[in-house]
Amino acid sequence: MARRGNRRRKKAMVRIVVTSLVLVVGAVSALNYHHKDENVKTMVIKKDDKVKTNIVKNDDSLHFPDYYKTTKKDENGLLEVLNIDSNLVLVNKDRKLPDGYEPDDLIYPSIPLNGAVKEKTRMRSEAAHALEKLFAGASADGYTLTAVSGYRSYDRQVALYNNYLATRGEEWTKAYSAYPGTSEHQTGLAMDVSSPAFGNALEVDFVKTAEGKWLADHAHEYGFIIRYPEDKVEKTHYHYEPWHIRYVGVKYATYLYNNHLALEEAMPAKK
Ligand SMILES: [Zn+2]
Repeated sequence: MARRGNRRRKKAMVRIVVTSLVLVVGAVSALNYHHKDENVKTMVIKKDDKVKTNIVKNDDSLHFPDYYKTTKKDENGLLEVLNIDSNLVLVNKDRKLPDGYEPDDLIYPSIPLNGAVKEKTRMRSEAAHALEKLFAGASADGYTLTAVSGYRSYDRQVALYNNYLATRGEEWTKAYSAYPGTSEHQTGLAMDVSSPAFGNALEVDFVKTAEGKWLADHAHEYGFIIRYPEDKVEKTHYHYEPWHIRYVGVKYATYLYNNHLALEEAMPAKK
């Protein structure tokens, strides 16, 4: 009797253990499945512009100023740039800064050069300090960045442009170089960033490097945007430049990042 009782108890125990195992395995699989499912959804959202567009339409929490509306054009058909000293200044192939414009608060950011030319690292004060924080943030995560090219004077852009015209021809120059006065580098709010690990090169493959990925994921936290995104060429009229970051401040940079917008799309600019 005692033995049979033991056997029965053993059988019952085995049943409990097996049932528990089945339940645990089932629960874990369900959790895994749920996680996988979430990942798939996240990927779809990231890749689906239509979904992003809906988010933009529903999010009117941040308005960009409308002082970009101007119809005044110069003899080359380029629109004048207003609000030159704003962090949100809009300079592009259609909108030109006054000849010789130079910001009056250019400084050298306090960052390790890592092979950069110090003279080329200048930015406007607020942007320079944000860049210091950006580089420190990258460093804390284990990545070393280089500030390859920041403020560029009008005269320097004239020289560059003319040199490109002479050596590469008109078609190439118009596609890849900014007409003097239309380079964002003249605002003192832009920086071309690379890394020693990538030979400090300014090439599209930078985005495939760990440093390039870090920059794409975190620049907005410090007030910078990737100014010429891969899928916004029609809006910016610039080829993809994963290295060119532009300071707009944390609030606007985060908004543009979250809503997947190029600066041109957020501006209520009138031509
Ligand atoms: Zn640039």
